[in-house]
Amino acid sequence: MKVAIIGYGMAGSRLAAELRARRADVKVTVLGAEPHRAYNRIMLSNLLAGKIDESDVEITEAAGHGVDVRPGTAVTAIDRAARTVTTACGDVLPYDHLVLATGGEAVLPDVPGLDPLPDRVAVFRTLDDCRRILAVAGTARTAIVLGGGLLGLEAARGLTARGLKVSVVHAVDRLMNRQIDAGASGVLTRTLADLGIECVLDAATEAVESAPDHVTVRLADGRALHAGLLVIACGVRAETSLARTAGLDVRRGVLVDDALRTSDPHVSAIGDCAEHDGVTGGLVAPAWEQARVVAARLTGEDAVYRPRAVVTRLKAAGIDLAAMGTLRGDEELTFSDPARGTYARLCIDGDRLAGAVMLGDNPAVGTVIQLFDRGTPVPGDRRALLLGRALGSAPVAAVESPALMPDATTICQCNTVSKGALVRCWRAGARSIGDVVAATRATTGCGTCGDAVRGIVDWLSAVDAPSSSEVPA
Ligand SMILES: Cc1cc2nc3c(=O)[nH]c(=O)nc-3n(C[C@H](O)[C@H](O)[C@H](O)COP(=O)(O)OP(=O)(O)OC[C@H]3O[C@@H](n4cnc5c(N)ncnc54)[C@H](O)[C@@H]3O)c2cc1C
Repeated sequence: MKVAIIGYGMAGSRLAAELRARRADVKVTVLGAEPHRAYNRIMLSNLLAGKIDESDVEITEAAGHGVDVRPGTAVTAIDRAARTVTTACGDVLPYDHLVLATGGEAVLPDVPGLDPLPDRVAVFRTLDDCRRILAVAGTARTAIVLGGGLLGLEAARGLTARGLKVSVVHAVDRLMNRQIDAGASGVLTRTLADLGIECVLDAATEAVESAPDHVTVRLADGRALHAGLLVIACGVRAETSLARTAGLDVRRGVLVDDALRTSDPHVSAIGDCAEHDGVTGGLVAPAWEQARVVAARLTGEDAVYRPRAVVTRLKAAGIDLAAMGTLRGDEELTFSDPARGTYARLCIDGDRLAGAVMLGDNPAVGTVIQLFDRGTPVPGDRRALLLGRALGSAPVAAVESPALMPDATTICQCNTVSKGALVRCWRAGARSIGDVVAATRATTGCGTCGDAVRGIVDWLSAVDAPSSSEVPA
């Protein structure tokens, strides 16, 4: 069988690797518009912040190993009747099954001054965008980030780490308005100010003006902000142009069913370009799960895609923020200490956690994520849950100790790896963090589970040591 994958990003590269791992006789071709091999897009935030180098973002999984990978090859047309795709250089490739993994594109605000994108203005989506931002940042002392969502704040924090003074301009009256509430936004705004990031909220941008050495952002209230660099992080739109032209059903994304089939049974769609049950992508965990499901189906298994609730974490040095679920329920627990940058809100529906925001130093964050992830009843001692400890008792966070952690606890959210999976991997012979990562892929997404995985591996090593009497569960 010939499988063609359009898009050599995070979903496309994972699908190629999954297919190769399952069946060597499936002929896989991956066509990617970007000129590079696949890279971990999530890690661009860390690259921008100078925490890692370009070589650290490459994804090696699908490189070589019998997959026909063609970077720098944009697909320009799909002929569904003939089952072929045509590339920008005119090559025509036949397929038995086609998978769209075309991702998303950065949304540009509809204001004058951005078409074409001026020299000192960049979006933040690709490795080339990141290079461009860094090149301009090297000549600038100040930056404006348009958009106070997750991506905008990660860009802002990265640029302050590089020594720039940054202002975040956000159209809505609270930051990260898709994930957090007004209380958390207030505390976050203060934390950001302490880190040298000014937030300008409820501010509609009217125009962008460019000069050789600076950019001006004109706001609807008459204010004008000037900076040496403007980064636009105003959201992502599913890349659906090929699918639309090919006559596939498209709304915000390419419509797919539980089997991730589009309106053509010979074409699937996964990742940020797909729309499943009214939801388009934007996070890697669903994209990788969809890749797994499509690989399973194409190699004869009867897998279906069942979305999981996701936990969003901000990857910005000095800010611990986790947000999950919906902030509605019949019971609410809130704690706010703006001076220390701490805020917690838990929304409980019946006896389950419907959603939570935890910002700053919250000892119970691990417990809260576990409760949300596993859908288990919340403990009766609400104060202990909210604050991490009941008065005079041990911290609730003790449950984060590997020995006490239930096997079902999800450790790596991006790859859905549980503690039990890590323990099984150890029992099967893995003896180092590298072995465990290679076998389970834990830590290879956003990387925020690195400490937890190391903690579990250290615990397993200690348990295996001759003097220990403890036996892993
Ligand atoms: C800076 C940054 C930080 C992020 N942080 C997080 C995070 O912490 N956690 C998280 O879960 N998610 C995060 N995300 C989102 C995550 O990166 C995406 O959800 C993920 O990349 C989606 O994978 P994808 O393969 O669908 O799309 P992409 O990775 O965007 O890949 C799509 C690929 O398809 C190619 N393509 C498009 N059209 C064509 C065509 N016609 N022909 C050939 N190729 C084509 C594109 O060039 C691109 O390379 C972040 C994103 C960014 C930009």
